[in-house]
Amino acid sequence: MTAEGVRRGQPASDASITGRQPLARDVPLEWLDAVLVATAELDPAAPLEQRVTALVDAAADALPSCGFGVRLPGAGLLYRRTPAGRPALTDDPVRLFPGFAVERVTAIVVNDQATLHVAFDEKLLVESAALDVLASRLALALRGAIRQARAHEQLREQIIQSDKLASLGQIAAGVVHELNNPLTSILAYSEYLRRKGERAGTDPTDLDRLARINEAADRILRFSRDLIAYSRPSTEKPEPVFLHDVINRALIFCEHVLDQTGVTVERSFGEIAPVLGVMSQLTQVFVNLFTNAAHAMHAEGGCLSIATVLSDDRAYVQVTIRDDGHGIDIEHLPRIFDPFFTTKTDGTGTGLGLSIVRSIVAAHRGRIRADVGEARGAVFYVDLPVTGPGSTLP
Ligand code: ADP
Repeated sequence: MTAEGVRRGQPASDASITGRQPLARDVPLEWLDAVLVATAELDPAAPLEQRVTALVDAAADALPSCGFGVRLPGAGLLYRRTPAGRPALTDDPVRLFPGFAVERVTAIVVNDQATLHVAFDEKLLVESAALDVLASRLALALRGAIRQARAHEQLREQIIQSDKLASLGQIAAGVVHELNNPLTSILAYSEYLRRKGERAGTDPTDLDRLARINEAADRILRFSRDLIAYSRPSTEKPEPVFLHDVINRALIFCEHVLDQTGVTVERSFGEIAPVLGVMSQLTQVFVNLFTNAAHAMHAEGGCLSIATVLSDDRAYVQVTIRDDGHGIDIEHLPRIFDPFFTTKTDGTGTGLGLSIVRSIVAAHRGRIRADVGEARGAVFYVDLPVTGPGSTLP
């Protein structure tokens, strides 16, 4: 059907796909259906340009006497369809269809420069209310398509980023492996020299220096062994583990990021029982939680406090992790455990950390929840079941 054929009150086509009745403003259902069908048929993986083109083409096919155009300056995109035989298009960024009597411009995304342009001639002025409805539907469909394309693009970048991180982890594990032999030599020789010096009556200050070399090398060796254990895909079997060991190990991994952000750590460890778990996976839970806390305190420093207790019924070890950081917006709370949810817009976040944390905790038959801090900051509560006779994990 052509736009010229559309007149107020004209009955809608019987071919309407939805079988709905015409709307109060007599917008022909064919117009709306054209947008609806094009929206439903959009390829979820299609790039932005393809989505926009498909929607504009659908509207232009339904109303071939009108001009349709979309400007997305942010994405450097301008697409327009003009009826054959109409005056040539200009480069004017505001008026996309100067040859038409009327050009309606609708904002596609609020606070963005993205606009939808629908141009028509005087003879269609009487239909302009219906055209406005179509334009607002089309703008809505375009808004959804743009959002989806952006989300898809973001997801792709995040997957690339996590792939990069995974390969970086493998490289780091290789480097650490290479460090092991020279470190073992440093440890052995510094210890040997210290003992020899003790026997020979060497200056105690030098002996102290040798002891420090030995301690430093020992620390690097322990750290690198733990790092290898942590980065290796876990084939470990669940076994009874003490969460205090896990937490201390995770704190060693995070020492650098905590120091960098000027964060102090407060431990309030209660009497607890072992839990049945996989050490490396549980370490990852706390590494992720401590790293997020450090990031949140990045601007002003603060205190990371970690408390453990046994639940009243002695069935769970309850770990509470508090920080004084910028906190979590109340409306973000329900989404922070979703994969790819991140508020770190500087590219440091993948939004995967907490979703991994949640799945590890769930695999250990535990529970995790987050809350806003009393005065400021965020609180995470992790409960893990204590191991008992007959405890197993799936
Ligand atoms: P990422 O750290 O990569 O953003 P996460 O899944 O670990 O991904 O976290 C998701 C989001 O949860 C973060 O972007 C942040 O908004 C919020 N968040 C997590 N931990 C904290 C915290 N301790 N304080 C404030 N916000 C937090």
